[in-house]
Amino acid sequence: MVNNILSFDVEEWNSSFYLDKDASVKESRVGLSINKILEILSSKDIKATFFVVGKLAEQNEDIVKMIDAAGHEVASHGYAHLPVTTLSPEEFRRDLKQSIAVLEKITNKKVLGYRAPGYTITRNNLWAIDIIRECGLRYDSSIYPVSLRVFTSGGAAGFQQGEFMISKDLKEFPLITADVLGVKLPVATTSYFRIFPYLVTKWAIKRLNQQGMRTCLNFHSWEFDPEHPKVKLPFPQNVKHYFNLSKTEPRFKQLISDFDFISCREAIE
Ligand SMILES: [Zn+2]
Repeated sequence: MVNNILSFDVEEWNSSFYLDKDASVKESRVGLSINKILEILSSKDIKATFFVVGKLAEQNEDIVKMIDAAGHEVASHGYAHLPVTTLSPEEFRRDLKQSIAVLEKITNKKVLGYRAPGYTITRNNLWAIDIIRECGLRYDSSIYPVSLRVFTSGGAAGFQQGEFMISKDLKEFPLITADVLGVKLPVATTSYFRIFPYLVTKWAIKRLNQQGMRTCLNFHSWEFDPEHPKVKLPFPQNVKHYFNLSKTEPRFKQLISDFDFISCREAIE
């Protein structure tokens, strides 16, 4: 059986780009979600990768320590959670280095990987890959090879499914998509895990695994906190953020009993 990769982006519920202007966090809720996630993972003895926002880590050292102490991998989700598409190479380098420094100071372990906020490493800013390598990381997990940009704020069409070497010494773990008649659709990561019926997710993972491919799935920490504040959003963003939030946990439990999962760290070792 192929091991798949399980990952989480650790951030507050208002970190999504479409929410920044409208919602402010009065009380941090990220600890609630992380506690819940760690408890579920420990019941199955699964280790995962947690891509933590550097700024959040600075303000919540205890949460990062808790993730690390439970044997999971702590990796970088940038420092200020900005779309890479809005940064210059110099700004990206600074943000990434700052996030790595914060996380390494807390865990006393080397950070091995990075995931861009909103999967915003695209065909137009592949210079970011060179900077990730230059910063000494061993892998990236920002490429979301969906065919249509409408599904995500980032996304890089044309990239393959399954892991590959994106550059010398740098492995890429692209986010899972399902290839339907040549069109790569998002079916098993964050919102789409909640929007599509679980059977679609299951079919997509199974099909890739049968082809010998390891898939990489991602969840936001706040998706395990269906009680977080509701703010008014335009219809598409509202669906993306709030649809079926209460189903994340039961579906996730089903997912981890149907498939085997490991962290990115375990996958590169
Ligand atoms: Zn994020």
